[in-house]
Amino acid sequence: MKRVYNFSAGPAVLPEEVLKEAAEEMLDYRGCGMSVMEMSHRSKVFETIIQEAEADLRELMNIPDNYKVLFLQGGAHQQFAMVPMNLMKNKKAAYIVTGQWAKKAFNEAKIYGEAIKVASSEDKTFSYIPDCSDLDIPEDADYVYICENNTIYGTKFKTLPNTKGHTLVADVSSCFLSEPVDVTKYGIIYGGVQKNVGPAGVVIVIIREDLITEDTLPYTPTMLKYKTHADANSLYNTPPAYGIYICGKVFKWLKKRGGLAAMKEYNEKKAKILYDFLDQSKLFRGTVVKEDRSLMNVPFVTGNEELDAKFIKEAKEAGFENLKGHRSVGGMRASIYNAMPIEGVEKLVEFMKDFESKNLNA
Ligand SMILES: *Cc1c(COP(=O)(O)O)cnc(C)c1O
Repeated sequence: MKRVYNFSAGPAVLPEEVLKEAAEEMLDYRGCGMSVMEMSHRSKVFETIIQEAEADLRELMNIPDNYKVLFLQGGAHQQFAMVPMNLMKNKKAAYIVTGQWAKKAFNEAKIYGEAIKVASSEDKTFSYIPDCSDLDIPEDADYVYICENNTIYGTKFKTLPNTKGHTLVADVSSCFLSEPVDVTKYGIIYGGVQKNVGPAGVVIVIIREDLITEDTLPYTPTMLKYKTHADANSLYNTPPAYGIYICGKVFKWLKKRGGLAAMKEYNEKKAKILYDFLDQSKLFRGTVVKEDRSLMNVPFVTGNEELDAKFIKEAKEAGFENLKGHRSVGGMRASIYNAMPIEGVEKLVEFMKDFESKNLNA
């Protein structure tokens, strides 16, 4: 068996321990005589799986009782529509556009009401987070929307925007469970799990109860109302059961590692190795403003497209996979989520040093 160092932005690396445990339980889940893939989502066994997953997530994130946890489908993209359909009572919302994902959410919201771009970093190819301490947010805006960690560009909000009392909605797909968060600062936190938590097919929505109402926009499908899923404890329809089961295992893995404060420390140490190297390299450089750097996604370039391509090819041959940058920006990107071991980044940096010495004056 061969395992590579997988720097994919998503679907991405998962903890090996979790994969091994799932493999052991594949044919016979704890004496049931069947796989979790094969069992009824209404069974006692699955009920325990989903309830334990929720309880562990609540413990990890310290989620208050007045928030619901929903395990849904449709990825982050479906939330781009569900958020306005459920929250745009005044048909007005403020969007902070810090990358492709925020932009897509902003454009989707325009279908349902007046989406107002209150800040953007598009002027400098989304390489920084704009100052959001005193934005011009309309009094009657239903919410303020951010993409907290910008997967493609490698920026992260280090301080949340001043929403001036408005509800904050955040897409945290690529920084989910990478560090502690204060859930009470948000109305909705949501993330597709395939970046940092589990297999594609599950999106987790953490939503304050007062935002769950029947009062959605007209023609909102039953399946796209938060209330439908909240009332049914995420079992309105057949949920992505196997995916939820794997997420549950990742939650237990995180608890065993000491929870989110310990993960933050580990992730900071890990990212620092790569950033420190980039900061002194004569060949490679990071593309993001230092104070806004993400701990999860690290884009970098040589400044020469041919050399970038050569690097990606040789890295792959050496066992470092998926280092190509997003198709919209080029260059390289190393995604170093929770499950990427420090050793993976150390080895990558060794490889980069070696590549630099061979190619610097080539
Ligand atoms: C990957 C990603 C998305 C898109 O997720 P899908 O599950 O494909 O809809 C949205 N937002 C962020 C921040 C992402 O990283």
